[in-house]
Amino acid sequence: AETWESVPLAPPDAIYKLTGAYKEDAYPQKVNLGVGAYRDDNNKPWILPVVKKATDILLNDPALDHEYLPITGLPEFTSAAARLVLGADSPAIAEGRVASVQTISGTGANHLGALFLSRFYHWPEGTEKQAYLSDPTWINHFQIMRGVGITPITYPYYDPATIGLAFGAYLATIRAAPPGSVFVLHACAHNPTGVDPTRAQWTQICELVLERKHYVFFDSAYQGFASGDLDADAWAVREFVKRGVPLLICQSFAKNAGLYGERVGALHVVAPTQETAVRIKSQLSVLTRSEISSPPAHGARLMALIMNDAALFEEWKRDIKTMAQRIIAMRKELHRLLTEELKTPGNWDHIVNQIGMFSFTGISQEQSQALIEQAHVYLTTNGRISMAGLNSHNIRYFADCLDRVVR
Ligand code: PLP
Repeated sequence: AETWESVPLAPPDAIYKLTGAYKEDAYPQKVNLGVGAYRDDNNKPWILPVVKKATDILLNDPALDHEYLPITGLPEFTSAAARLVLGADSPAIAEGRVASVQTISGTGANHLGALFLSRFYHWPEGTEKQAYLSDPTWINHFQIMRGVGITPITYPYYDPATIGLAFGAYLATIRAAPPGSVFVLHACAHNPTGVDPTRAQWTQICELVLERKHYVFFDSAYQGFASGDLDADAWAVREFVKRGVPLLICQSFAKNAGLYGERVGALHVVAPTQETAVRIKSQLSVLTRSEISSPPAHGARLMALIMNDAALFEEWKRDIKTMAQRIIAMRKELHRLLTEELKTPGNWDHIVNQIGMFSFTGISQEQSQALIEQAHVYLTTNGRISMAGLNSHNIRYFADCLDRVVR
């Protein structure tokens, strides 16, 4: 028999397949609402002006070489990254109990965090290695967990009836889970729903998690991108740290710095003591060594420069606001078109209440399919749209098409 006869053909990745179909479509008014990347008002990728500036500084630095970074990454980057998510005044940082390691963007942070838990976490008595994921979640969470031998199970999160949070069922699952269970929580701008808990709800989640001694695996892929404010979007993470929840944070700079392809990210494990953090970091270093030896340098240098220079940092915050505000403006305009101009049947308030790149429209699989096939509007068939794909030129067309398929 041929050596690879038993290798089954894997199905293509749904999002990449959607993008392929969009590219092949010759229809002039076609719209791509599948992409998980920011686009400007002309549907073009946006290089943040602050990133352009930092790139020029790096290119003109005669001291720069292409040597390896340390295994755990560029120290000026990882320390600034920790301050960004935990707050510059974080007691956990001051007490030296945060183990931070540079990763291959947010995906690599999720993988390393999961791998670390798989190897070292003290799993609850009588359970296998398992992690609770929100239903639904970023689809990659499932494969990342399975890849390191952790069984993904889900907790209720999204309620189709209200197009909002299934809060009661969510809390009930936290309460019922064996003490010491691992919960993966989206720090802000939940993907794919755009539905986040309110601060009061976060507080209740936090208290219950503490009471049940669970472990929180925060995935923070959209800090700043959601509300336009880096601190506001880190509120839940900081609140959980303040209240002493044992946790780790997976951090990505793909969205908030537009550095998708540069793969800039970090994993931060908040430990009870400095001594524990040192031991954790030593093991994260061993795991990183066997997988990538050391992380890529360019993006980390860019972000270290931006985060450690007061003027560049301020400029970055302005660029983040530019992106977040355009997305928020699209939400308002879509809501206005549907409710005021077209008088589309149904309630569309969730469009403005949801946050971040994505919005669950609440339309059915059949309606989503009709948008793709009849209107050349590309979206995932769960009814999720990327707000970044909307702009002043195509939003009216999209609103008209959406109105037609729901009538
Ligand atoms: N986590 C979530 C919830 C995401 O939506 C994404 C990107 O879409 C990521 C993590 C990781 O992205 P990246 O590896 O590009 O940083």
